[in-house]
Amino acid sequence: MSRELAAGDFSTWLAETRSAISVEGSANVPCGTCTACCRTHNILIAADETETLAHVASTLQIPASRMPHGDLLMMHEESGDCPMLVDERCSIYEHRPRMCRTYDCRVFPASGLAAGEDKPVIDEQARSWSFSYPTSSDRVEHDAVLAAGSLLAGNRQLLAEADIPTNQIQLALAAVEMYDLFMPPDSARADGAAVADTTPLAVVVELTRRRGLRAVD
Ligand code: SF4
Ligand code: SF4
Repeated sequence: MSRELAAGDFSTWLAETRSAISVEGSANVPCGTCTACCRTHNILIAADETETLAHVASTLQIPASRMPHGDLLMMHEESGDCPMLVDERCSIYEHRPRMCRTYDCRVFPASGLAAGEDKPVIDEQARSWSFSYPTSSDRVEHDAVLAAGSLLAGNRQLLAEADIPTNQIQLALAAVEMYDLFMPPDSARADGAAVADTTPLAVVVELTRRRGLRAVD
């Protein structure tokens, strides 16, 4: 029998996650003893993460192709483990990469997407989360995120043409960003608009617009 982990109230999780996305804050995931993230990822270290880079041996840093100039990937062990994982703990926790600080596998059950065939241990953990729905808004908001996830996953080509990453975690995060377009017309929308255009092209254009606005903030 699969275990069940409390993921928290859906609306609270959604608000915190959207805030973390918009200000690049840290995710507050009750990971417990799970270290799946430290065993399955290519860990990206952005060029501006100087504090992190100072704590990772240069021999473990390799240029990240297809990423902005100067971004690096941390080499992993033959087993796939991150070399910073020592005795089941992150040995550079206070200085861990932004990617590690912001990753939250609850975004997969939230968006209805899977982590991916190459990340079975994360998918196993993701399937264990169970959100709570103390109010009707929690349900309605979750349905809206699921609808956004489904539309985005079905329109990868459109996203790719707009230069928007289409890997699973990026799709799931985009669903969190765009959920308000999928709220029922009588619900409060994040941007205050009354009716949203949820055709695929309109959603992609709006996602591009919002990310552009964030980039110049
Ligand atoms: S898979 Fe989820 S619970 Fe496990 S370490 Fe990563 S974020 Fe935490
Ligand atoms: S840097 Fe730390 S948190 Fe990030 S993958 Fe490696 S061990 Fe895990």
